[in-house]
Amino acid sequence: MGEKKKKIIKTIKVDVDLCNGCRACEVICSAFHAEPKYSSNNPARSRIRVIRDPLKDVYVPVYAGEYTASECMGRDKYTIDGKEYDECAFCRASCPSRDLFKEPDSGLPLKCDMCESDPDLEEPLCVQWCITDALTYEEREEEVEEELEQEEMEIGLEALADKFGLDKIMDTVARMSVKD
Ligand code: SF4
Ligand code: SF4
Repeated sequence: MGEKKKKIIKTIKVDVDLCNGCRACEVICSAFHAEPKYSSNNPARSRIRVIRDPLKDVYVPVYAGEYTASECMGRDKYTIDGKEYDECAFCRASCPSRDLFKEPDSGLPLKCDMCESDPDLEEPLCVQWCITDALTYEEREEEVEEELEQEEMEIGLEALADKFGLDKIMDTVARMSVKD
């Protein structure tokens, strides 16, 4: 058994009914993650994407989640307010079957990092920029096994090395460690 340690669980609650599709969340997320910070904005680099259907007034913000090396064997189909959406439309994965949640230049997977920065932000930027309150932020504390986190990190790194090759991963880590 590993050591117990406290972990802050960060949650962004999405109220789809309040989203008006303005895409401010995409703009600020991509600007925050630009290099250098705020030097550009490009929604393709955003870790949140808004699935939009203006005719039906349906807008669904979706956060970039885990990277996956292979597609799923099945598919989901959603119908909202009478409209059927594309398979995979609301999936959070960075997956080989589509371009969503991939850094456009390098092809590396994008994942929401809750605007990790030093010092910490009071709230993630997409939440701060969402004037309709479709996005709200919550934190709670939980006890977790330290070993488990290590294991998860190893699985993630193996998947990345598998897909992009160890050299590319090492180059990216080297680039990250010299950035401000
Ligand atoms: S900023 Fe808020 S209202 Fe605008 S698209 Fe994003 S989630 Fe929707
Ligand atoms: S929490 Fe930060 S990193 Fe995640 S989608 Fe929002 S702005 Fe992007």
